Formats: sequence, structure tokens, C-alpha cells
Amino acid sequence: MSIEKFSVEKVLSVHRWAHNLFSFTMTRPAHFKFTAGQFARIGLMVGDELVVRAYSVVSSPFDETLEFFSIVVPDGAFTSNLQHLKVGDELYLEKISYGYLTLARYQQPLPQDLWLLATGTGLAPFLSMLQDFETWNKYQQINLVYSVRTASELAYVDRIQEIAKLFGEGHSGFRFIPIITRDPNAALHDRLPVLIANGELEKAAGSELSPASSHVMLCGNPQMVEDTKEALKQRGLTMNRRGEGNIAVENYW
Ligand code: NAP
Repeated sequence: MSIEKFSVEKVLSVHRWAHNLFSFTMTRPAHFKFTAGQFARIGLMVGDELVVRAYSVVSSPFDETLEFFSIVVPDGAFTSNLQHLKVGDELYLEKISYGYLTLARYQQPLPQDLWLLATGTGLAPFLSMLQDFETWNKYQQINLVYSVRTASELAYVDRIQEIAKLFGEGHSGFRFIPIITRDPNAALHDRLPVLIANGELEKAAGSELSPASSHVMLCGNPQMVEDTKEALKQRGLTMNRRGEGNIAVENYW
């Protein structure tokens, strides 16, 4: 890994959501450009080795700093070191951004509904998209669906409300739909493919998943992405290729 591809940035804040979940912000160099939904590659010195991982950016492309949302992977070479991050620490940031989970991949004309389906830290790229006015201008209905195992893992709930208020002002079609899979008392507690097949997700959103009206983006657990893709295909939705088709995906690890 050539170190010249990276700039050295400073950690500005660290926020812990749960024992295994945290967010951090860091300085953003002027050369670092990205589109909402893209990811950065962040490096940490572990001993004398630069260890690098991909992280979707939480911040909007217009923010002066960069925010990221991370899980602590037990015994993971990267996150078990990253979890001890403190304000003022240095991180390496690759100079270019990556990824195709962006709204630019969809060709016109756009359908009316955008569904953003996340598990765990897969929420990150959707927070960035929701902090971009273009997203709100493009779609009449936006459904943010966020599946976690327990209520304590539901991060960013207040921020989501703030973002919807600020960026979605005058926009009447936003729904935030949490799913808590290990709490049988939660309003929605089945996995996404089940909720799609039995119609409960559409009921909660008050809108229909259909090839004509829906763009669907999936981000998170790779098995969720696979299984949810299949459930959507059963409903006639297709993978987005060369701009056409409904479904766009990103595996989050
Ligand atoms: P997770 O197991 O991905 O669970 C998050 C949500 O996704 C839960 O609601 C879970 O439901 C649901 N889910 C899991 N598999 C699904 C499927 N096939 N279809 C639909 N929904 C599904 O939990 P996590 O906390 O985000 O991550 C768990 C582990 O993944 C971590 O311990 C870590 O080792 C690894 N991970 C690694 C990275 C990384 O390397 N960068 C990033 C994230 C996670 P259920 O409760 O029913 O399982």
C-alpha cells in the first residue's frame, strides 16, 4: 500500500452509541471530493503496517469535516484498534473516494419513491444522501428502513429526525421505519425479506414496492443484501444496470 496515496487527518470527535458501535469525525482535506453514498478508505498504523478499510461517509458532500459510523469487530485487526480512537489522533485517508451506491447511477425519468434499506452500520451512506437536497428534490416519497438486532443498536435516531426536518422541509413524503429483529414487541421485528414478502414493510411505509414506482438501495450485511434482492426480484423489481432497473446494492463488510 503506497502511503503517498493517503493524507494524514486528525480526529475531531468520537461518539459511542453502544459497546460495539461508535462514530467519529475527522478533518477533511480540500482535495477529498465525494458524492453522497460513496465510501472512503481509511488507514490506521498497526505496529509499522498501514491497515486500510472502506467506510461509507456519513457526512454530506458539503460538510467541512468527515463523519464515519463503525462497528467493533471482535478481534478485527482494524476496528479493535480503531475503537480506542481519541480526539487529536491521526488517521490516514486515501485521497480519492469510491463506490457506485449513488443516485447518479439511476437514469431519468425517475420513479416517485426511493427506498433506502439498511442493516447496522450500512445506514451510513443513506445519512449522507439525506443530507443532500438533491435527494429530496428527486423523489416524492423517501422511506428509510433501518434494521438492527436490539433497540440499543439503533443509532442516529435523533439525527435522522433533525435531518428530515432540515433537508426535508416542505417535503411531505418521508418515513423512518426501524426494525428491531430480536425484540418480539417491536412494531416491526421480522427480517427484511419476510417483511417484503408479507407486505408489512409496504404497510408501514404507506407505499408500494413496484417496478414502476420504486428505486431501492440496499446496504449492510451481505446476506441481507442477497436475500432482500431475491425478495424484491420476486416482486418484479430488477437490478440496476447501466442506469436502468430498480435495485442498487453495497455490501458493508
Ligand atoms: P447484523 O448481524 O448484520 O444484524 C443487523 C441487522 O441485520 C439485524 O436486524 C439482523 O437480523 C439483520 N440481518 C442479518 N442477516 C440478515 C439477512 N440475511 N436478511 C435480513 N436481515 C438480516 O449485525 P451487525 O451488528 O451489523 O454486524 C454483525 C457482525 O458483522 C459483527 O459482529 C461484525 O463481526 C460483522 N461486521 C463487520 C463489519 C466490517 O468488517 N466492517 C461491518 C459490520 C459488521 P437478525 O437479528 O435476525 O440477525
